[in-house]
Amino acid sequence: MKSAILLIYTGGTIGMKQDPEDQALRPFDFSQILEEVPELRKFAVRIDSYTFNPLIDSSDVEPALWVDLSRLIRDRYDEYDGFVILHGTDTMAYSASALSFMLDSLTKPVIFTGSQLPIGMPRTDGKENLVSAVEIAAAHDAQGHAMVPEVSIFFDDKLMRGNRCTKYSAEDFNAFSSPDCPPLAEAGINIRYNHRIIRYPSSWEAPLRVQTRLDTRVSILKVHPGITPQVVRNILCGPETRAVIIETYGSGNALSKPWFLEIVQEAAAMDKILVNVTQCKSGTVNMDMYATGKTLKRAGVVSGYDATTEAALGKLFVLMGRFDRNSDVKNALEMDLHGEISK
Ligand code: ASP
Repeated sequence: MKSAILLIYTGGTIGMKQDPEDQALRPFDFSQILEEVPELRKFAVRIDSYTFNPLIDSSDVEPALWVDLSRLIRDRYDEYDGFVILHGTDTMAYSASALSFMLDSLTKPVIFTGSQLPIGMPRTDGKENLVSAVEIAAAHDAQGHAMVPEVSIFFDDKLMRGNRCTKYSAEDFNAFSSPDCPPLAEAGINIRYNHRIIRYPSSWEAPLRVQTRLDTRVSILKVHPGITPQVVRNILCGPETRAVIIETYGSGNALSKPWFLEIVQEAAAMDKILVNVTQCKSGTVNMDMYATGKTLKRAGVVSGYDATTEAALGKLFVLMGRFDRNSDVKNALEMDLHGEISK
């Protein structure tokens, strides 16, 4: 049976072409995608496309786009075997993380991809990324089940779990890293699927559940030498925030100065949700390791384990949209919901 894929174009470098008039990069008409990337015709796959209007540079992505994407996938879910989302690289890891929490009981692939060079350029990485993403999105096993029923990012020969990625290079084709989770698949001569790592639904029959209610009252505090009590208080105790992601040092350590701990305790007493993630590129928060971590834990700070900041943000938006009580949000934060933490 011929697979069908919906190619969703949100914007970003991949869909740009150099205008011969003034050499400027402009988005091209994506209904022409098969003319632009004729390689796609070689698959026994029907490819339909959907283009967002207006197209956006992903630095302008807002949670409203995630809601639109989730609704689009929900509305067209039964028509397609998989979804490929073309998205700018700058915030792709945020969008893939958020979607991984918004789409529950997923049985079909949702693959984000993009490129560092526009698809119209001779050395573009966009064609490889797009063609492989489409092939993986259409792939199924002998029972007809999707090979990778997850929200993922395909970039530079690797399919990575969406909520484990961070953009780490502004220059290389290898733009994303997923240091704490091995690739879900790797594209060489063949596509090698990592069945040990891929998450499968508990039931292939369960209907997709989509959560579009998000509570975005989250701030991020990055601790650094020289940080002042005023800055810490503004962020942790600000009236606009319900939760704060604290990016700490190493395995979850922050300043042991009494003023810092007092402000953390003050924020906890205001029932703020405080989540500890590490500034390190890999490894996990362990608040039992050092005295400073233990004090944070005692003050009520929740461990984000090895979650990326992008994943912690998406998880908070979704959990806070779901639960009114902060204690419920904190309990769910500690759990591995969609493969975002190694627990
Ligand atoms: N600024 C662009 C974006 O994120 C960069 C890219 O697509 O690579 O939309």
